[in-house]
Amino acid sequence: NAKRAGKNQLSFYNKTMQQKALHSMKLEEELRQALHHQEFFLMFQPIISLSNGSNVKFEALLRWQHSGRGVLNPGSFIETAELTGLIVPIGYWVIEAACEFIRQQLQSSTNVRPVAVNLSICQLRERAFAGKVESILTRLQIPPHLLELEITESMLMENVELAMSLIQRLKQLGIRMSIDDFGTGYSSLSQLRQLPFNSLKIDRSFVMDLETSLVDQQMVEAITAMVHKLNLKVVAEGIETKQQMLFLKKTGCDYGQGFLFARPLPASEALQYRGHAALAEKDQRSA
Ligand code: C2E
Ligand code: MG
Ligand code: MG
Ligand code: MG
Repeated sequence: NAKRAGKNQLSFYNKTMQQKALHSMKLEEELRQALHHQEFFLMFQPIISLSNGSNVKFEALLRWQHSGRGVLNPGSFIETAELTGLIVPIGYWVIEAACEFIRQQLQSSTNVRPVAVNLSICQLRERAFAGKVESILTRLQIPPHLLELEITESMLMENVELAMSLIQRLKQLGIRMSIDDFGTGYSSLSQLRQLPFNSLKIDRSFVMDLETSLVDQQMVEAITAMVHKLNLKVVAEGIETKQQMLFLKKTGCDYGQGFLFARPLPASEALQYRGHAALAEKDQRSA
């Protein structure tokens, strides 16, 4: 009986594995087509100064207008894009589209806000990466300091040497660099100290339970103090409540990003976005 059950289970797993394989093959083909038919687009989520509510920069977030399944978030396709290497051409598309958005701002606004773009590990491994980014910036006439590249802490730790030399090259081009999802990887202080980043983003998992978790409060305080000692700006991700925001502001966290301020916005709305009024008013009253 056990044997039979075991066999059934085995065939069950084989079937789901097979289904998964088929699914990802289909997804791979669809991703290729998506790139070809321009089904990707970017949303831009504002990052806010916690001291005065101004919009200091945006994070570009990839979306896929899928023909049958509506708008897809990266969670449903990034992994396949990474496994198949398709994230490399998709990634260049993202950088170009972010630069297009910066150019739109340069043409229409006096207050141009930098745009941060997420990178995948496969992009770091590309020998030509820095050179290609440089040529995109030159071709679209974008001042490099308006582009920021986000690298997750875990990506960084996968190959510190590789990351280090690439980050240095990108910094030399004038591009800003930030560490994403900090607190979920295992970097050491000495490693962080060596890397020429401009800012560090505290992972959403530390912000989520700030109201009730003393440990998370202490973590955020410690990270903020440490990062300020390294002369980097601290960004908190995933701020959803006023209490979270107030705690982070009190702690001295520089910038915040989250649904409390704004969801990721289409380019046209992002262009109009002017900051978080509530924080600005509050500051004026207390000043
Ligand atoms: P991330 O870089 O940490 O981006 C922040 C994610 O948190 C975004 O999800 C954003 O919509 C979400 N978020 C922002 N504020 C809040 C909040 O207050 N509450 C909650 N619950 N979520 C919030 P999204 O757009 O689904 O992206 C997920 C991840 O996919 C990103 O995490 C990033 O790692 C990756 N990703 C996004 N765009 C790209 C891209 O162009 N290239 C690559 N390689 N990865 C990307
Ligand atoms: Mg990010
Ligand atoms: Mg993040
Ligand atoms: Mg995250």
